[in-house]
Amino acid sequence: MKKVTIIGAGTMGNGIAHVFAQHHFKVTLVDVSATALEKALSTITKNLDRIISKGDLTEEEKKITLANIQTQTDLKAGVAEADLVVEAATENIDLKLKIFKDLDVFAKPEAILASNTSSISITRIAAATARPAQVIGMHFMNPVPVMKLVEVIRGYATSAEVTATIMDLAKSLGKTPTEVNDYPGFIANRILMPMLNEAIYALYEGVAGVNEIDTVMKLGMAHPMGPLQLADFIGLDVCLFILKVMHDGFGNPKYSPCPLLVNMVQAGHLGVKSGNGFYTYTPGSKDLVVAAQFNKW
Ligand code: NAD
Repeated sequence: MKKVTIIGAGTMGNGIAHVFAQHHFKVTLVDVSATALEKALSTITKNLDRIISKGDLTEEEKKITLANIQTQTDLKAGVAEADLVVEAATENIDLKLKIFKDLDVFAKPEAILASNTSSISITRIAAATARPAQVIGMHFMNPVPVMKLVEVIRGYATSAEVTATIMDLAKSLGKTPTEVNDYPGFIANRILMPMLNEAIYALYEGVAGVNEIDTVMKLGMAHPMGPLQLADFIGLDVCLFILKVMHDGFGNPKYSPCPLLVNMVQAGHLGVKSGNGFYTYTPGSKDLVVAAQFNKW
């Protein structure tokens, strides 16, 4: 496997392109937005410079990595030669089904089609193609160049051969792949999201304040970030969406989103991206300023 196409050049797509290119794959990065592609290349360059400053990469390797990446706004041209396509476009079911229908037509018949989706059923995405045995989940973590885990999600129809190929491929990227079956939330979000939801419930019920809840989990459980700060970082709308997918998928009330989370999303308080969530943030920065004063739960 030599040629990889990444669909979507946002937060995840640029990181996935970076990692493949640094490991000597020929990468085509596709996005509907030329601006997103430009921004992705500049982010990749900055991230490579950061790795150089730590002494883990040479200027020569940076040049080779950047030379391994080309960009494209046309899906058909972008996937024609790919051995593997990794889709990391916006999390929207209709959009992903359309992209996979198109990929099935435009990509080589033997190409493997992977999705980086956080919450959408791989089995459902695979069913939009005529090659469901070759469709699989490759769930990278943010930030992709730093995080070691790749959750490899085996859809109902994914073949054992394709799963083994993707597990080996993830190892060749210096990652640690973990194979999981395709059920709502997979493993990462199935365990993470109820924890974040429970932290929000604790706040909602007035058991403790924002700083107190995050401090308990940071200092008591050695988590690098408290659950409320992490929810802000992920995006409260994203957390709500994933909880709803698990609630619908399992029909179990334990996944029902806390009403405070629902209210905050409805009010447009989405965390870091909107500048306010459980904390307030300096615009354009992830540095939190102060914990929100909750008097409205
Ligand atoms: P993002 O919004 O940063 O980027 C999405 C990109 O997709 C945008 O640049 C957009 O222009 C592009 N796009 C939209 N429609 C397209 C199309 N038809 N063809 C090509 N490009 C298209 O999103 P993101 O945070 O990078 O998330 C991408 C995927 O990764 C989602 O499925 C998400 O669930 C998953 N994911 C995100 C994270 C995270 O922490 N952000 C972590 C793991 C998985």
